[in-house]
This record gives sequence, C-alpha cells and structure tokens, in this order.
Amino acid sequence: MSKSELIRNLENTIENIPDFPKPGIQFKDITPIFLKPKLYEDVIADLVNFSRGKVDAVCGIESRGYLFGIAVAVALEVPFVLIRKAGKLPPPFIGEKYDLEYGSAEIQMRTGQIKPGQRVLIHDDLLATGGTTQAAAQLVEKQGAKVVQFSFLIGLKDLRGEELLKKFNAEVYSILEY
Ligand code: AMP
Repeated sequence: MSKSELIRNLENTIENIPDFPKPGIQFKDITPIFLKPKLYEDVIADLVNFSRGKVDAVCGIESRGYLFGIAVAVALEVPFVLIRKAGKLPPPFIGEKYDLEYGSAEIQMRTGQIKPGQRVLIHDDLLATGGTTQAAAQLVEKQGAKVVQFSFLIGLKDLRGEELLKKFNAEVYSILEY
C-alpha cells in the first residue's frame, strides 16, 4: 500500500465521535483499525520505517500506545517499555505529574527498564495538547536516556502539541494530521 493509500484508508477507517467524552471534543476512535488486519500491518510497517535504525528502545503510553508500540518494538528488535497511569505498577518506579484541562494526572514507569544512553522512541496513538507525551519524555530523560523520536497515528494540529515537544530536539511523526 502506498503512503497516500495508507492515509486514505486510515481516514476512512478512524471514526470521529463528536462531543465525547465532553462537549467540544472530537474523539478519534482508532479501534476499527483492528477489524482490518492488513491495514494494521501497513500502519506498523509505516511506523517501523520511520524508526528503523534510529532507536534502542520503544516506550508506549497506556493504553492505546501499547497496541501499536509493542509491534513496532518487536519488528525493530528492541525492548518495549510500558508507561502506565499512576497506581498500576509495582515498585520500583518513578513518576511524573502533569496538568490536564481540569486538575492533574501522573504517569509512571518501572525503573531500570530504560538504560542510560539509550536512544528512545515514545509512541502513542494520538498527539493532542502534548501534555501526556511531554511527561513521558521527562520520565525517560530523568533516567539518563535520550528521546530521539515521537510517533503517533494522529496529530491534532490545532492543539499545538508539537510545540511542547520541541525542547526535546527529537523527530516528531504523525501518519495523519487533522
Ligand atoms: P494530550 O496529553 O492532550 O496530548 O492527550 C493525549 C492522550 O489523550 C492520548 O493518549 C490520546 O489517546 C488521548 N486523546 C486526547 N485527545 C483525544 C481525541 N480527540 N481522540 C482520542 N483520543 C484522545
């Protein structure tokens, strides 16, 4: 499948649900991708193509970041590390708090799974404000590794998440942009 076919196919597959989970939010539902195994394979191939030879580890953000991130890591033959929402991981772990539209949240990762000096890809399904991804990158860099790439299926341009990620001097890639 060519890149333009992949983009067209994804646009026709991902569902937009207006006003979910709150009024004003256009929720992008990626679950129909899993009904089309060939499309899933092509998404993974595209993400792998972006990262091949450039990273030593992949970090995926809970939970939709796992669905693609782990397949990318296996194809690249590098370790996959889970970044989880607070309260789920056994110790030892480190955490990073970040602001949400209302209130705050925390993400965590097991210590010792990311090694100092590693070049790391952070992957999630969607880049919105960038708050979650920024906190994930801070967790990785606190452990002496370097975030060199971010990848997403979808980037929501108007929310300017990419600007928040600029300070990491890493490549940012979204297959689709809205
Ligand atoms: P943010 O921290 O604002 O970049 O939000 C990113 C996280 O929230 C990702 O893990 C997404 O899965 C989820 N998310 C944010 N906005 C949307 C949206 N419009 N549709 C689907 N998921 C979203």
